[in-house]
Amino acid sequence: MNIHEYQAKALLRSYGAPVSDGRAVLRAEEAKTAAGELDGPLWVVKAQIHAGGRGKGHFKEAEAGEKGGVRLARSVEEAATEARKMLGRTLVTHQTGPSGKQVNRIYIEDGSDIAKEFYLALLVDRQTSRISFVCSTEGGMDIEEVAAKTPEKILSFSVDPASGLSDFHGRRVAFALGLQGAQVKQCVALIKTLYKLFVDKDMEMLEINPLVITTEGNLKCLDAKMGFDGNAIYRHPDIAALRDETEEDPKELAASKFDLNYIALDGEIGCMVNGAGLAMATMDIIKLYGAEPANFLDVGGGATKEKVTEAFKIITSDPNVKGILVNIFGGIMRCDIIAEGVIAAVKEVGLQVPLVVRLEGTNVDLGKKIINESGLNVIAADNLSDAAQKIVKAVKG
Ligand code: GDP
Ligand code: MG
Repeated sequence: MNIHEYQAKALLRSYGAPVSDGRAVLRAEEAKTAAGELDGPLWVVKAQIHAGGRGKGHFKEAEAGEKGGVRLARSVEEAATEARKMLGRTLVTHQTGPSGKQVNRIYIEDGSDIAKEFYLALLVDRQTSRISFVCSTEGGMDIEEVAAKTPEKILSFSVDPASGLSDFHGRRVAFALGLQGAQVKQCVALIKTLYKLFVDKDMEMLEINPLVITTEGNLKCLDAKMGFDGNAIYRHPDIAALRDETEEDPKELAASKFDLNYIALDGEIGCMVNGAGLAMATMDIIKLYGAEPANFLDVGGGATKEKVTEAFKIITSDPNVKGILVNIFGGIMRCDIIAEGVIAAVKEVGLQVPLVVRLEGTNVDLGKKIINESGLNVIAADNLSDAAQKIVKAVKG
């Protein structure tokens, strides 16, 4: 689960990390009062969406020369005007995809004078099974580009959970960033704070880009992105309350409410599968036969008829779906339950696209019988390869 920059900064502030003063604005009328509560003489007006690259992004239907989603202002009036201009419009960045994201919230921040920009992140590193720090002197930019072109400019190390974090880790970051004097102390304190926050809140990712040295010589977090482990959210009602459902794919949101493992993709073949491994294999074989999956969907081991019905509805609600492949290996999950769920869903939402069903395992004969006697226009398949070929043929003609 991700949160907005202004929410992430409130968390940082509550743990004592250095961030600027700021106000979140939801309605245009609030912009002037919010800006007026900050000192100036510089204000930063920032579009709040769950995607990075806002500064370099552009709005749809932008006027010639119009700035992106991060704008500097020199007066309260100007800050309020920029906030009003951005609210409600669609911002496109390299992370949003071409359709962009609607800006429903603005963060107005007390502007900083920047001497240097750095990159700093913490993440759960799957290779070492530990929390890793990543830092670079090349802040403010795309870290992916830095990693590809000048990997020597990135320092990365992991923290041994047995001995935990110590000042040494903070100093390692400070020296990699070329910090001096009091900044080293500030960095050691910041690294400790970030690590504690990361562990306390079960984060997956915490990125500060840029971390800056101000012209006064102090470290400050000018941007903040946080991602939290969805499986641990139940332990953090304060974090769960920050969820902004308008930022999420409505299909993924519906799926999460029914405890379905669903990820929307760009292809044309909707997949309903049980088990993550089989779902991956199904996506692979669809690609092998020349088409693209429209989603990853694992209905899980103990799915009920209602859950299967919901899954089917989510798949058919995607206008990109030109065909559906149901691939079930019944173990704990029984084939007849799947068959009943599919039929119930088709009766409810209709079936506008070809449907291939491959059932195998527990109660397979009963499952096939239910489908065959349903009068639905279903293409039966005997094995995975046969099923994939049939659905690709049905869709591609
Ligand atoms: P992103 O583009 O979505 O990553 O948004 P950021 O919050 O990182 O802002 C983009 C850029 O705007 C930063 O890299 C800074 O160069 C600039 N910026 C952000 N806040 C300030 C500020 O307080 N003062 C100044 N001068 N520039 C800022
Ligand atoms: Mg940034």
